[in-house]
Formats: sequence, C-alpha cells, structure tokens
Amino acid sequence: MSHSFDLGGRVALVTGANTGLGQGIAVALAEAGADIAAAGRSVPDDTRAQVEALGRRFVFIEAALDTIAPVGDIVSGTVSQLGRLDILVNNAGTIRRNDALDFTEDDWDAVAGVNLKTLFFLSQAAGRHWVAQGQGGKIINVASMLSFQGGIRVASYTASKSGVLGVTRLLANEWAGKGINVNAIAPGYFATNNTEALRNDSARNRAILERIPANRWGKPSDLGGAAVFLASDAADYVHGAVLPVDGGWLAR
Ligand code: NAP
Repeated sequence: MSHSFDLGGRVALVTGANTGLGQGIAVALAEAGADIAAAGRSVPDDTRAQVEALGRRFVFIEAALDTIAPVGDIVSGTVSQLGRLDILVNNAGTIRRNDALDFTEDDWDAVAGVNLKTLFFLSQAAGRHWVAQGQGGKIINVASMLSFQGGIRVASYTASKSGVLGVTRLLANEWAGKGINVNAIAPGYFATNNTEALRNDSARNRAILERIPANRWGKPSDLGGAAVFLASDAADYVHGAVLPVDGGWLAR
C-alpha cells in the first residue's frame, strides 16, 4: 500500500453530526484517527461522547445552516479550536414532501438553502482557507439516490441533490489542480429521521425493501468505510466521483 487510510493528526468538519448519517460519518472518521468539529443547530452530545471515547478531540460549532452567514466562522472556529482543517463533510440536509402541484416557495427554499446553497458556500470558505494556507484538503458531499433519479413528492430535494452532484463535479474541475479533492457519497435508503415517514408507511416501506438487493435499510455505520476512504490519502487521485452506498439500489 503506497497510500494510507489513516487519518491520525487530521481534523474533519462535519455538518449535521448530531444524528443519523452525519453521526455515523463523524464516528467513522474519528475511528480512523481524525479529530472532529461538528457544525449544526442541535447539541451533539451523543456524538461527542462516542468521539471522545475513541480518544479524539471534539468541538461543537453552533450554526443554523439555512443561511450562509456562519460559513466563515465555522471554518475559522474549527481552525482556532482544533489547529487545522483537512476534511469537510457537507452532510446536513433536510427534506419536504408535497405534491408538485401544491409545492410552496417555502418548501423549495428551506430545502435548497441547506442542501445546496450552504453546501456550496461552506465549501467555498474551506477552499479559500486551503488555498490561502497553500495546503490541500478533502471535501465529501452527501448526495442521494435522487441525484440520479426523479423521486416523487420531493421536488426541492431532488433538485438540490441533483445540484449537489453538479457542484461536486464543478468544484473538482476547479480545485483538483490545487490539491483539493471534491467527491460525493450517494447513500441509498438509510434508517434515519430523514426517512421516518417512508418507513412508517407500510406500502412504501415494503416497496423500497423489495427493490434493495441487500434486503435491508442502511445503517449510518454502513457509510463509514466510504467516508474514510474519500477523506484519506488513498483517495488523493479521486476527483469529482460519486460513490453510491446503497445496498445495490442503483444496480437494480
Ligand atoms: P437526519 O438524521 O435528519 O440528519 C440531518 C442533519 O442535518 C441533522 O443534524 C439536522 O439537524 C441537520 N440540519 C438540517 N437542517 C439544518 C439547518 N437548517 N441547520 C443546521 N442543521 C440542519 O437525516 P440523515 O438521513 O442523517 O441526513 C443526513 C444527510 O444524508 C442529508 O443531507 C440527507 O439528505 C442525506 N441522505 C439521507 C438518506 C437517508 O436514507 N436517510 C439518503 C440519502 C441522502 P437537526 O437534528 O437539528 O434537525
């Protein structure tokens, strides 16, 4: 192995790390050796406990991510409290479900703001920091099956997650030559708050499970390996890629 998966000495900033996939990713990165800065609006006590139990440092940067106002402070707060920034995981996201005929401007803005606009401007803040420091970095964006498919009753979610893939590729094109790797993970159907409504609808739950070759919903820990890989030196020549972690959903 000429490249390492070890993240010892690295600092990872993860948005929305208090729960669900963000928590799973933060803990996996800590297991691989990274210290963790968690940015979001809810206090991530459980994630802190898991990361600190691994012997890693953990800081919480309180920030509402439906506005881009805090992005500069999130990056500078990470660097001032943990000494550096190496990895940014744009995980925070939300969803609104409504028929396209009834979809409101608020349904659109609430989702597109967090999922796409903040993702871009937080990436910009990290990119500016790395370029100013003359160092590289790793960005991992959390995409979705709806980066590839249309979905139903989730217009702004589909638009934002399709946009995440486009922005991932655009940033990779602009920044690969600067030593900044920008890639995405596309989770399939995972058991988190985000999918509670689907899992509570027995017909939808059954239809989804019947389509997943692995025959089960994903668990947040299922994303760990993909996140560690894309955050590590092993991915130094991986740019603009999207890695599905979906139990085979897209292969179907
Ligand atoms: P989740 O448990 O609901 O986590 C979402 C996270 O984003 C939470 O930490 C949430 O904070 C945070 N967040 C949402 N809006 C925010 C805002 N305005 N300001 C600050 N933080 C905000 O759901 P999840 O499934 O883990 O979602 C994580 C990511 O995975 C999202 O981007 C989602 O689209 C994506 N994803 C999920 C699935 C799936 O099957 N679950 C599949 C594909 C992609 P609060 O706890 O304070 O709300």
